[in-house]
Amino acid sequence: MAKKQFQAESKRLLEMMINSIYTQREIFLRELISNASDAIDKLYYRTLSDEKMVFNQEDYYIKVTADKAGRTLTISDTGIGMTMEELENNLGVIAKSGSLAFKKENEAKDGHNIIGQFGVGFYSAFMVADEVTVISKALGSDEAFKWESHGADGYTIVPCEKDTVGTEITLTIKENTEDDQYDEFLEEYRLKAIIKKYSDFIRYPIKMDEKGQ
Ligand code: ADP
Ligand code: MG
Repeated sequence: MAKKQFQAESKRLLEMMINSIYTQREIFLRELISNASDAIDKLYYRTLSDEKMVFNQEDYYIKVTADKAGRTLTISDTGIGMTMEELENNLGVIAKSGSLAFKKENEAKDGHNIIGQFGVGFYSAFMVADEVTVISKALGSDEAFKWESHGADGYTIVPCEKDTVGTEITLTIKENTEDDQYDEFLEEYRLKAIIKKYSDFIRYPIKMDEKGQ
């Protein structure tokens, strides 16, 4: 499948994330966990309006898996998932979330600091990752799709296999450079501390799973 281009606004925000001089990169995890939690909420509300569905609390959770050797960090959820169209519309377009408009408005007042105070959303993953893969299966769908991007040059969406409804986001964590450290985002103790700091109020269990450590 040919590579698709991000919309101009999305591309700008994405470039901002990729080239971020921002020190609080750790907030990417807060953003991805909050999206995972929102997705489980959506499934929950669906069960309230659909008497054929039951919501078993223990079936709904978020899992964070660090693979040091493979340099990947995966955030998966058992939420409502995304169809191909939703992957396209929600991850290719930023306008909805309003964070860019907000940033523009406040830039003059508050310099660079807006990112920390306001949800920057999904694209913040690109502050720490040079590749992001989203595998998702929507509620009520038999098909799963894989959205993949290396950054501002666009993204691809292809069919793939996934047994269960929900979303799995895998970040290929950037290599350390002289100035910037990224290895910490593969360390369990560090991830736990970030989760405690920003995601303590999340209503669903956040499980940690570590590979090769
Ligand atoms: P916001 O959360 O403010 O809407 P984001 O950039 O964080 O903006 O996410 C964009 C959209 O992508 C979300 O509104 C949602 O529709 C979709 N999305 C992101 N992550 C997930 C997920 N884990 N499960 C389902 N949908 C998701
Ligand atoms: Mg969000």
